[in-house]
Amino acid sequence: MKRLSVFVIVFSFLIFSTVNLFARTFATIGTGGVTGVYYPTGGAISRMINKKSNVYGVKVTVESTSGSVYNINAVLSGDLEFGIAQSNRQFQAVNGLAEWAKTGPRTKLRSLFSIHPETITLIASEDSSIKSVSDLKGKRVNIGNPGSGQLQDSKDVLASFDISPDDIKAEYVKAVEAPGLLQDEKIDAFFYTVGHPNGNIKEATSGRIKVNIIPIKGENVESLLKKYSYFAKSLIPGKFYPSALSNSDVESIGVKATLVTSADTNEKIVYALTKEVFDNLESFKKLHPAYEVLTKENMLQGLSAPVHKGALKYYKEAGLLKYINPELIK
Ligand code: GLU
Repeated sequence: MKRLSVFVIVFSFLIFSTVNLFARTFATIGTGGVTGVYYPTGGAISRMINKKSNVYGVKVTVESTSGSVYNINAVLSGDLEFGIAQSNRQFQAVNGLAEWAKTGPRTKLRSLFSIHPETITLIASEDSSIKSVSDLKGKRVNIGNPGSGQLQDSKDVLASFDISPDDIKAEYVKAVEAPGLLQDEKIDAFFYTVGHPNGNIKEATSGRIKVNIIPIKGENVESLLKKYSYFAKSLIPGKFYPSALSNSDVESIGVKATLVTSADTNEKIVYALTKEVFDNLESFKKLHPAYEVLTKENMLQGLSAPVHKGALKYYKEAGLLKYINPELIK
């Protein structure tokens, strides 16, 4: 009799866990190259929510991808549930600009929140004698892979100095490969729009070939800032890259990383993810130095796509709606 009840208990437990396992939903966050900040950011967010996967019935995984543009398109096509994307790329997708000029406005794109600041970072080898953007003419420069956020940023910066991709020897490889190419003297410089510190720029600055972080500033940049309101002045702290020849803070411009999804993504999952990050913001901020500046208020700025219903539900409960542009509340 006793054995039978033990059997019944064990058996029902097995059935229950199996059902539970299958009832669990999986969601994936598209990030960027493994040496950037998107990849560890996806990891940080997924760990936050996975701690409660029994409560929410969702398990979040992370995928390394080509970057912002890829992530926006993948959430819209349903290949990914979430994606990290630059705030200016989010703006362009919503308004049918840049890579979306042909497809038109992407109306199903939804935002959750902004994350860390990202700076347009230009790295050049000492031997190239590049000291400013205007010196890039005729040089071998990686401006970014298709699918990345930085590709259009590099073009915008070059255009503000009247340089077209034809005036340089442009390369279009992934950021993860650029430090190696620079150290092998295959390229003279590369652009990367990224949060700091990150493994990519550490790798680029600590090899045999000595490198400078080149400032992106001056009159041309001032007019770029006027033309595109999503760019803002930004500093790359010298302390993060002690082996760079330019070992002081470098002036540049930047955007913000943001988390996006599709209007079709399950409301409960979006709610859970938003709640876990915001309710545990202080512990989240400890996961990467680039998150130091985050506040609940600034995480609700820099968004262009309407805020997803699941996220709005949380912001309403938490009294945070006041920080959101009313036009994004639909
Ligand atoms: N900003 C880059 C992009 O959109 C990615 C930077 C990163 O991975 O941290 O492609």
